[in-house]
Amino acid sequence: MVDMKFSKMAARLRRSEIRELLKLTRQPGTISFGGGLPDPVVFPKEAVEAASLRAIRERGDQALQYSPTEGEPFLKEEIAAYMQRTGDPARPEDILVVSSSQQALDLLARIFIDPGDPIIVERPTYVGTIQAFRAMDADFQGVDMDDEGIIPEQLEAKIAELVGAGRPPKFIYVIPDFQNPSGINLTLERRKQVLAIASKYNLPVIEDSPYRELRFTGELIPSLYSLDTEGRVILMKTLSKIFTPGFRIGWVVAPPAVIDKLVMAKQGADLCTSAYVSMITAFLFQDRKIEEQVVKCRDLYKRKNKVMLDVLEREMPKVHGLSWSKPDGGMFLWVRLPKYMDALELLHEAITEKVAYVIGKGFYADGSGGNELRLNYSYPTEEQIVIGIQRLARLITKRIKNGSSDHTDTGQSRPSVEEESSLRTAKG
Ligand code: PMP
Repeated sequence: MVDMKFSKMAARLRRSEIRELLKLTRQPGTISFGGGLPDPVVFPKEAVEAASLRAIRERGDQALQYSPTEGEPFLKEEIAAYMQRTGDPARPEDILVVSSSQQALDLLARIFIDPGDPIIVERPTYVGTIQAFRAMDADFQGVDMDDEGIIPEQLEAKIAELVGAGRPPKFIYVIPDFQNPSGINLTLERRKQVLAIASKYNLPVIEDSPYRELRFTGELIPSLYSLDTEGRVILMKTLSKIFTPGFRIGWVVAPPAVIDKLVMAKQGADLCTSAYVSMITAFLFQDRKIEEQVVKCRDLYKRKNKVMLDVLEREMPKVHGLSWSKPDGGMFLWVRLPKYMDALELLHEAITEKVAYVIGKGFYADGSGGNELRLNYSYPTEEQIVIGIQRLARLITKRIKNGSSDHTDTGQSRPSVEEESSLRTAKG
């Protein structure tokens, strides 16, 4: 056996517990609320077929060649035009095309994080972000959220504390639109406050926004990027949730100095994103096929979101400590179980009952969130949503009945601050 001398970075790498657990849920007959997958029913196969043919016939020499690391110029122009139409204007030279936003996370980690550097994230935050930033040995400094998103007072206190200790954070990372995992949307007031705090402490803000376009009701809230007047927001976008994850196309909009570093980091990673898929994407943008798809996804997920919320309301036991978010967009909602219930234990039981979800723990860099879980409603059919939630509700009800009298929450006691905020989340 060869004694492989792996790097310290390799020693830090962990398989995502969540993705490992998801494998268990792929049994025939199991209804999964686990992954963050779009519904293939709406995949725009004909439009993609037509654009693929055009990419080969009309731009074949470029499509089958390497492209500049910055991105295929035709695609960057079309992305800039799309951003103009969606209220986030950017110039092509401000854009770096990436192999979807997971690559953006990896590259951003490489250019910003030295081992031990503090960085600010929401609690909870996206599991893939934890994976990418952990590889660079980031020191995760989590800031709590309530039903309006990250709490500015806590954000400022945390930054002040770190600055006071001579360890200013490298950046603030937020997912303001229908956050993964919580489904929570950062309010306009809070967006302004986050920017003001970032400005006060002169910190970059990374805005990760895959779900923004998937808003079901109400007005679109301006992005942090569009509110920023100081060039401190780095915006990450992806086609994964609004078009197809199979393309692996995303982009970063950032000030020139950041783009320059990202380009160098990307050269070491993959030289360039697929020119062929970039060319197809450019035609699809040009023909407004991406926007057509956004409307289809939005309508479908809006219906599924309502089905899930209705069945939760109908089937879940009315017990203190059990609450869930009510998102106006995106793909997920977040459930808090009574404190004494363990989401992982419940999952093992759920899997035998052929229903699955993702445990909350993986979304906390500090390993908390043991009584929380994420439900996805974009992938299962409406019928599966109804049956799956009924199964889950039965299991939760059984656990409540089986809980010892010490633990069984009667709703008589005063909720803790954390529980109170989760209750507000459920109503918000
Ligand atoms: N950021 C967030 C917040 C996400 O939810 C996801 C996908 N689940 C990603 C980044 C990565 O997505 P992709 O690489 O497919 O663009």
